[in-house]
Amino acid sequence: MIANNLKTDFPFVSNYFEQLFKVNVKKFPQSIVFEGLDAYAQCFFALELARILNCLEDGEENCQCLNCRWIRENKHPAINFVSQIHFKPQGDDSKTVISAAQAKEIEKSLRETSDYHRFFIFFDAKQAPPDLEHKNSHKNYSPAGYNICPDEDWYLDHINQKTFNPSTPNVLLKCVEEPPERTTFVFLTKNRADLINTIVSRSQCFKLPTSVKRQDFGFILPYFEKYPLMPLSCALNSSEELQNYIKENEMPVDLLLDTILSYLSFELKNADNAGYVLKLKQDIKALAAAKRHHSAQMSDKVVLDTLFLKMAGDIK
Ligand SMILES: [Zn+2]
Repeated sequence: MIANNLKTDFPFVSNYFEQLFKVNVKKFPQSIVFEGLDAYAQCFFALELARILNCLEDGEENCQCLNCRWIRENKHPAINFVSQIHFKPQGDDSKTVISAAQAKEIEKSLRETSDYHRFFIFFDAKQAPPDLEHKNSHKNYSPAGYNICPDEDWYLDHINQKTFNPSTPNVLLKCVEEPPERTTFVFLTKNRADLINTIVSRSQCFKLPTSVKRQDFGFILPYFEKYPLMPLSCALNSSEELQNYIKENEMPVDLLLDTILSYLSFELKNADNAGYVLKLKQDIKALAAAKRHHSAQMSDKVVLDTLFLKMAGDIK
């Protein structure tokens, strides 16, 4: 069923759909609005739903049937991306919005019958090589075997209030309202408020809450490998290496301090040992002090060395 990495991150929504597949697949929604911070997570989730609905076998994660493989390779004829650069009819060279011509093209394609469960996945595409943040999202949320933007000359973004041409939604609305059987529209949004109400009211909305851990503080984890049992020498080493890291990456030290804070806070939320909880609370205090030191114009070296000295040591 739904790929394990997505199931771990989004257990609630995954269970909902897996139940639906088992019990009443005929009730599969004709229109879905995903809300949440990560458009890649949403896109992969939608593709997994499409894959299971079109699978020729039992929908298992590693299924190698033709439909499953085509969907992972982004070649399936019934799975359509719709954006400023996808699903463009000939002669439509508008670049910035999903145009009325595109909506009509969708309407036209729906008049043809299909052997598959069709998906139309709407998002805002940026025509530029993906930056580090988008590459990380792609990597973090991609189930095994997927390759959705092989040329890397565009990246996924959420629908925003400027994504649709003002005349688009009405044509689209008719399709969303009365699609042929086995057709699903999916809209990738940060928040449903970015989509017109008439589409939202005809859709089922699902939140895909993404965790901070994978997105934000990945780069500091190697420097916290021994934490909370960092010997003094190791703490000073980490401090020095992080000073080099922020210099090389031109990262301001307060951004680094915020990142360490989100790491410690995440640990605190998940800590179940009283000693560790106490240590984390002390270190979060030390971090607040480090921020004060930084605003008092102390050098990055002094700020970080002092912080790491305080963080060194053991759980009491
Ligand atoms: Zn399959």
